[in-house]
Amino acid sequence: MGRIALDSFNNVTMTPTGVTSPSDLQYIPADGSIPSPNGKPVWSLAQAAANLNRTGAIWNVGPNGQITYTFLDKDPSGLYNSPKYKDVIGDYTAGFTPFTEEQRDAARNSLALWDDLIAPHFVEKNGRGAADISFMNTNTGPAQASAFTPFYRGGHGKEAKIQGDVYVNQDQPDNMDLFYGGYGQTALTHEIGHAIGLSHSFQHSGIRSLEFT
Ligand SMILES: [Zn+2]
Repeated sequence: MGRIALDSFNNVTMTPTGVTSPSDLQYIPADGSIPSPNGKPVWSLAQAAANLNRTGAIWNVGPNGQITYTFLDKDPSGLYNSPKYKDVIGDYTAGFTPFTEEQRDAARNSLALWDDLIAPHFVEKNGRGAADISFMNTNTGPAQASAFTPFYRGGHGKEAKIQGDVYVNQDQPDNMDLFYGGYGQTALTHEIGHAIGLSHSFQHSGIRSLEFT
């Protein structure tokens, strides 16, 4: 089964209320020695990691240890318009445009951050859909950006072509803030997290069961 991470971010406030500098942020030790201010349970690192991985969505990384990615230069409707994919992806490719050179560099920077954290290496491929993760701009309705996660336990299904693909809405100006810490760069890093299988740290009471927001 494919899983969709659909991010709207429309109501996200980047700075917690009352926090005016990083030193005001509270860091809660994972050993539970300090109760959380809101009374919620404090998870260990292992519990937190298991939560982020709770859907079991992973790439079946081969012995070469690679996850491949590409920047689509053409509307992938040849891949996506197959009737067997259509019910899943809807109009995800509406308004397709290729990533700009600046977006490609930003995505490479975000991938490098993840590459430092995980065992597999990201390798760029040229070509149309010939990679695990394909980046593209589309007009994805209200969403700023979205991504499909890989399959449960690295399996394959009928949506194999679209798993791991990342969509950015080029009509949202914030998405072009591509400096480190900028909205667009942060959104790319976030979506790549979904593209390698991570969920949000909370379970959204979503409208559709396959979506995270
Ligand atoms: Zn997300």
